[in-house]
Amino acid sequence: MYQALYRSFRPETFDTLLGQEHIEKILKNQLATGTTGHAYLFCGTRGTGKTTTARLLAKALNCTAEHGEKPCGVCANCRSIAEGSFVDVMEIDAASNRGVDDIRELRETVNFPPIQGKYKVYIIDEAHMLTKEAANAFLKTLEEPPANVVFILATTEPEKLPATILSRCLRLDFRRVSEEVLQKRFAEICQEIGVAIDPDALGLICANADGSVRDGLSLLDRCVSASSHVTREDVLTLLGMAGVETYLEITDHVLAGRTGEALTTLARVLAEGKEVTQFARDWVEHFRDLMIIQFTEKPENVLNLSLENIERLRKQASGVRIETIKNCITRLSAALADAKWSPRPRVLIELAIVQMSTEAPKQNA
Ligand SMILES: [Zn+2]
Repeated sequence: MYQALYRSFRPETFDTLLGQEHIEKILKNQLATGTTGHAYLFCGTRGTGKTTTARLLAKALNCTAEHGEKPCGVCANCRSIAEGSFVDVMEIDAASNRGVDDIRELRETVNFPPIQGKYKVYIIDEAHMLTKEAANAFLKTLEEPPANVVFILATTEPEKLPATILSRCLRLDFRRVSEEVLQKRFAEICQEIGVAIDPDALGLICANADGSVRDGLSLLDRCVSASSHVTREDVLTLLGMAGVETYLEITDHVLAGRTGEALTTLARVLAEGKEVTQFARDWVEHFRDLMIIQFTEKPENVLNLSLENIERLRKQASGVRIETIKNCITRLSAALADAKWSPRPRVLIELAIVQMSTEAPKQNA
C-alpha cells in the first residue's frame, strides 16, 4: 500500500527530529534526570513537528529499552505507540466534534493507573479549539494532575488559550525548519526511495515549504510520484507557479515597468489553474510583507515566512519606496473590491497591473 512520505519518514527517535534542537535538549535532559513535567504546551506553525515530538515524548516515557537513549523506536511499546495502538497514549483532536466528549471521558478515566506502560499520556491537538466547557473541565484535571499522567497540548495559536491553562504548562516553541536542514533531509529521503532530484529542484521545494516539514514532504511526494527524476521544471509545474517565486517575479516586473512581462506572468499562472482573485489577494500579502520588512528590525517575528524567504523579500524591498508599495496595495485592493461585482475579474486585475507598472518606475525614480 502506498504511504505518504510524511508518514513513512516520521521520526522514531529524537535524533531524526528536524530543526528543533532547543526542544530536543530540554526534553532529553528532563528524561535523563527524571524531571519531566505534568503538562506541556507545544506551540508553532503547522508541520514543525509538534505532534511528532509529543509522540516521541510519550514513547520515551514508556520505552522499555535497557540501554541507550529513549525512545529506542524498536521496543514493543515504542512500536505500539507509533502504530497508535498503545492504550495509555491518547490523542484528542480538539478541533473535531468529538473533542468535548473526549475531554469528558478524559476526566472520568484520568485517575485510573496506566495499563500497558508506566505513563498515561494525553496528546491534545489544536488545543486552542477546545470549547470553553471542555477547557474548564480540562483545567480541573490540570490543577491536580494524578501521578504518572502527562498532558501535551499542541497548538498553532497559543494566545487563544486561557491564561489559567497556559500558566500550568511548560511552554516549548517550535521553530520553522531552515531550508538547509530540509534540503539535507529531503536529499537523503530521495536517495532512500531511489529517486533522482536536481539540486535546484530540491532548493525550490524547500523554499516553498516555508519552514514546514509537512508541506515540504507533501510537495516532494507529488513530485516523486510524477517522475523518477525530478527537475526544477517539474516542481514549477506542480506548484502552479504560485509560490513565493511567482510573487517575487511578477513584482520585479511591475517595479521595473515591464508591463508586458507582468501580464505574461499573470497569464501563465492563471493558465496553470490559479484563481485570479486568490492570486491578487496573495499578491497584496506579498506587498504587505515587503512593507513589514522595511519597517521592522526582526520581520521573522511578524511574518509567516522562513528566514530564507525573508532574505529574498528583503532584497526586493530594499529598492522600493513606501509610496510605491502603498500604491500597489491600493490598486490591487480596489481591483479586488470591484472584482466582487464583476463578471470578468481578470480584466480588473490586468488593469491594476498596467497602472502599477506604469506608476512604479516614476515613483522610484
Ligand atoms: Zn523503546
